[in-house]
Amino acid sequence: MDIKLYEELLIKKRSETESFLEGLKESSKPVDLNDPIGRLSRMDAIQQQQMSLESKNRALLTLKQIEAALDRIKDDCYGLCLKCEEEIPEKRLKARPESPFCSGCQP
Ligand SMILES: [Zn+2]
Repeated sequence: MDIKLYEELLIKKRSETESFLEGLKESSKPVDLNDPIGRLSRMDAIQQQQMSLESKNRALLTLKQIEAALDRIKDDCYGLCLKCEEEIPEKRLKARPESPFCSGCQP
């Protein structure tokens, strides 16, 4: 298995996720309820904010998994499922290089 390839994928994905989070900052600002906008658009704004909060949490989790995966590369145990310790199929790692589990153990 070509660890170098996955390391590059992870580093690339990390910078993508970081700039995604950067872009979210603007849209996840708290909604100002005193803002003189219509009721409907205020609800839209709150919904919008909720959605960006969710994608923010997802992105933060991805970042954590990426860091953990990079640590596993350093520790020489990258690509092994954290639960059953079987090798994670490369097809899965190519799609999600930060995967800590094989598809059978994915919670
Ligand atoms: Zn497993």
